[in-house]
Amino acid sequence: MTATETPVAIVGLGKIAVDQHVPSIAASPAFRLGAVISRHASMKGVPCYSSLGDMLAKEPDIPAVALCVPPQVRFDLAHEALSKGRNVLLEKPPGASLSEVEALSDLAKSNGCVLFATWHSRFAKGVPRAKEWLANREIGKVMITWREDVRHWHPGQQWIWQPGGLGVFDPGINALSILTEILPAPVQMTAAELEFPENRDTPIAARLSMRGSGKLAVEADFDWRQTGPQTWNIEVETDRGLLRLTGGGAHLEIDSRDVTDAEALQSEYDGIYGRFADLLREGRSEVDVSPLRHVADALMLGKRLVAAPFND
Ligand code: NAP
Repeated sequence: MTATETPVAIVGLGKIAVDQHVPSIAASPAFRLGAVISRHASMKGVPCYSSLGDMLAKEPDIPAVALCVPPQVRFDLAHEALSKGRNVLLEKPPGASLSEVEALSDLAKSNGCVLFATWHSRFAKGVPRAKEWLANREIGKVMITWREDVRHWHPGQQWIWQPGGLGVFDPGINALSILTEILPAPVQMTAAELEFPENRDTPIAARLSMRGSGKLAVEADFDWRQTGPQTWNIEVETDRGLLRLTGGGAHLEIDSRDVTDAEALQSEYDGIYGRFADLLREGRSEVDVSPLRHVADALMLGKRLVAAPFND
């Protein structure tokens, strides 16, 4: 630990906190883990609290909080931390609705706090170079295929099936966060089909159509029922070549040649904490709701289809 490391408290010791946030904070030269807030779990060597309010009252020197809880319970926690003048990092998606994220953004501004709505897939190795390569090209068709096995990636998680949990858009929004990052101009949703298991409140599959300027057309296929090899690919046809991001953005091919940046950070979450350190230093928030807006549009426009019941 050094005097320059900013203590950050993690709220919610679930899968993503344990798999990614704790190791990235430990690896970061800018942060150290100052406290954890968990309803059930604790961590050796770190002050543990069962409520955020308790931590905020007893740890005035922890200026930053990382919220790793499900989206449905994030707003109240973020509001509480920002109201007490703490800087807040939000896991994706930044909230369960657009209006609550906008309210948090306004609160951060009026209280002079930093709010960072993270999109971890934007820190995948292939994404920055893909963005750079597409900047001056005419883009035609974009095909997104995001198919994974929900039983493998979300074992026993109930919140993903409850209202606000987004269902297949929980991973699908990662693809949308890459799309909105790499395209030089916005696209608009034109149609969607959503498959809801008859016993669940969120979709297990979705097919989306979007359009942009000129010939730009985006098709997306999200499915949580894929067993065997998993697919997280984005293909972009342009006037001067074909770009393919695979492995959720980790690999970049242009005209079938691997051009992944070998120097790029291995861990998306190391990138997130690097950016958070920059934002804190600059006193600047970063809140881009465009991926969440596309999900909201899909849920507004989408034709609802009933699928077979899903049981864990
Ligand atoms: P998770 O394993 O279910 O963990 C969420 C944690 O939040 C729980 O362990 C719990 O921690 C806390 N929590 C507080 N209120 C809760 C409530 N009402 N219901 C359930 N948990 C509650 O979920 P996760 O996979 O870590 O996902 C959390 C967020 O990270 C989601 O927004 C997700 O989209 C995002 N994310 C997940 C992944 C992934 O691979 N899993 C990847 C990237 C981003 P305590 O028991 O400690 O209070």
